[in-house]
Formats: sequence, structure tokens, C-alpha cells
Amino acid sequence: MTFSSDAIVLKITKTGESDRLLTLLTRDRGIIKAFAKAADRPKNKLHMSTNLFCYGRFTFYEGVKSTKVEECDLNETFYGLQSDIGKLALGQYFNELMTEAAPVETDATEYLRLLLNSLFFLANDRIHPRILKSLFEMRLASLIGYMPSLVGCKECGEYETETMFFNVSTGELFCNACKGTGTKQLSLDTVSAMRHIVFSDFEKLFSLSVTENTANALEPVTEKYLLNILKRSFRTLDFYKSINN
Ligand SMILES: [Zn+2]
Repeated sequence: MTFSSDAIVLKITKTGESDRLLTLLTRDRGIIKAFAKAADRPKNKLHMSTNLFCYGRFTFYEGVKSTKVEECDLNETFYGLQSDIGKLALGQYFNELMTEAAPVETDATEYLRLLLNSLFFLANDRIHPRILKSLFEMRLASLIGYMPSLVGCKECGEYETETMFFNVSTGELFCNACKGTGTKQLSLDTVSAMRHIVFSDFEKLFSLSVTENTANALEPVTEKYLLNILKRSFRTLDFYKSINN
């Protein structure tokens, strides 16, 4: 049985003599694994279209034991990511997060849209990578059902005070008067940036613009928040950090 879907290659494992085992994020069926037979051979028709970040219209053959890529009508390669190790590392972190968090056997349009746009903005230098990382992490957390409660103070409902406090374990926001233990102090600019990431329409999501100070304050918050939810670490994140420190 064959089926087609828009899809992007998240991960490649070389297998056999010249095969590739791909992990893909598909629009129609979420995360799938599929073999690209002989794709490692330069003359194979799948050689150029089954590389990391390759996005296009894929046709799959679903066998009893495994799924194979039949063909791919390539749309975008995000080539700009290959020439910069920092961007490449961040893109691979996004891919690994998607592999972990995106659904299986169901529509994944929202996930694909977040990933494709993030890779586009990353590849084209449209937004600082550090801000993009925070944006991706917190928007993904919201997508998988863990939208933090940022409307106002959890206790008294106050929309904003001069500084506010956030609990990265629970995703709850507190005002200056109600802050409990285990919360982290945030500037109003940082809270505003988080609200933008969580509440803005997708069309406006990537227009987020913050100062370097705010980006620095935001980074550990969004990262800890998401990793707390996923309850694991990511090899690609460790690598990203190793080249950015
Ligand atoms: Zn309060």
C-alpha cells in the first residue's frame, strides 16, 4: 500500500550496505520511520532528497514489516543550515525535540508548521538563534498540552507587577506579593516575551523582538520548562551548548 504526505527528514541512520533509515515528521501521520533503499549511493534517485532537513512530498510504500520511501518531490533543503555549525546544531536539536514530542499515526500539521518556519528563520538569519530556541521550546510545550499559565498571577490574578515570578516546574506565574518558594524572578520584558510566544497568532509568532538581556533571561526558563515536561535530556542540546559556551 502506498501513501503520500508532505514530510521532513529529522534523522538519518545508515544501515546495511547503502541504505538509510529515516525518521520523518509527516503532515498526515506524524512521526514515521522509513527505509530509503540504496540512498547512500550517489547515483540513486533518493540520494539528494533523503538528507537531513530535506522537505518535500514523499511517497511511501507500507509493507508488513517496514515502510519504504518510494520517491520524493523535493521542496526545500534548508541548505543555509549546513554551512554554520551553530545553526546546524540548533536545527538538529529542533529535530530531536520533534522526534520526541510530535504525535504518531495522526495529523501533525501544527508541528510541521512550527518546525518548517523555525528552520526557515534559522537558515536565513531572520531572528537571533537564542531567541528562536526559546520560542521553539515554549511554543512546542504549548502544542503538546503544557501551555504555561501566563495570563496573570496564579494567586491574585494581577496582570503585571514590576517584577514577576515563574515556577518552571508548574508553569505558573506570580506577582511580587504572592511569590512562593521555588520561583524564579523575571523582568516584565521577559514575561511579555513569554506571553508573545504562548498567546500570539502563528502569523505574528516570529516577529518577536527582544533585547539581549531579555533573550539571556529567557533562555534557561524556556529550556528548563520544556525539559521538565519531557523528563529527559537531549544529546543534540548538549552539543549545541558545547559549541555556544
Ligand atoms: Zn499575586
